[in-house]
Amino acid sequence: MSGTIISPIHDLLNDLHGRLQEERGGEVATYIPELGKADPEWFGVAVATLDGVLYEAGDTEVPFTIQSVSKPFVYALALQDRGMERVLQQVGVEPTGDAFNAVRLEPETGRPYNPMVNAGAIVTSSLVDGADAEARLDRILAGLSAFAGRPLAVDHKVLVSEAATGDRNRALAYLMHGAGSLRCDVDDSLTVYFAQCSTLVTTRDLAVMTATLAGGGVNPITGQQVVSVEAAAGALTVMATCGTYDYAGEWLMRAGLPAKSGVSGGLIAALPSQLGLGVFSPPLDPRGNSVRGVAACQELSGRFGLHLMRPT
Ligand code: GLU
Repeated sequence: MSGTIISPIHDLLNDLHGRLQEERGGEVATYIPELGKADPEWFGVAVATLDGVLYEAGDTEVPFTIQSVSKPFVYALALQDRGMERVLQQVGVEPTGDAFNAVRLEPETGRPYNPMVNAGAIVTSSLVDGADAEARLDRILAGLSAFAGRPLAVDHKVLVSEAATGDRNRALAYLMHGAGSLRCDVDDSLTVYFAQCSTLVTTRDLAVMTATLAGGGVNPITGQQVVSVEAAAGALTVMATCGTYDYAGEWLMRAGLPAKSGVSGGLIAALPSQLGLGVFSPPLDPRGNSVRGVAACQELSGRFGLHLMRPT
């Protein structure tokens, strides 16, 4: 059976949502001008369990662009399409402690450090199946849609805004092309990456997508095997080590869950074999993580004893 459930967990989510709605910290990202139009009051929390039950509170149906929260899902698609050894040739898996847009490559190999920073994500999206940029974008949109269990689309205004202000990503792509880690045309690679980031999702989608990773690649609502168990595990692994920018270490210490954040205010966290959490609230802390999102996930982790490193 699937559907949204009213239960004690629902009451708890509503209570948490009501309290954290009062939190006024953080700033909405404006470096992509279109993102600056987000309402700082938007706040949704959703939990999807592996048996297909959804618990939700707040603005869980407001559409927003997925931004960096797309990165682990597209990494899972690349692992699925190419296999781990092939993907590792072009993208590393070492945490950097750097910001999302750091201009730094491994000196020996020219690889980006990991798929959760922009450099690594640009290479990752060039690795999914597809003979050209259009085919790769189709593969990514179909893949993200399968994770969500419904058809997703790109927000063209955000896409144009990203492309117009994406010089740093452009510089990264040229550097990697020169270093040999990005083997596709630079403009094509950026078109695909910008469109990937501009894909519209809701908080509910994020919970279902994350539950799909937590369930070894099986979408708990549709039952579709979207990626292999190995590909889902690979994505969860890089989320655990590199998912929350230069806060990844402290995040894992406090929440104990693989996670990924993005500049539009999305945040996901997974409890493998159990559930996916999705939170959306645009104001970000100085490291680029949603203020309400971090607080909500850490509180839920503590409240339900979800920390992976703590015996139950
Ligand atoms: N599209 C954004 C960028 O590349 C994603 C950044 C993020 O969410 O961290 O700048």
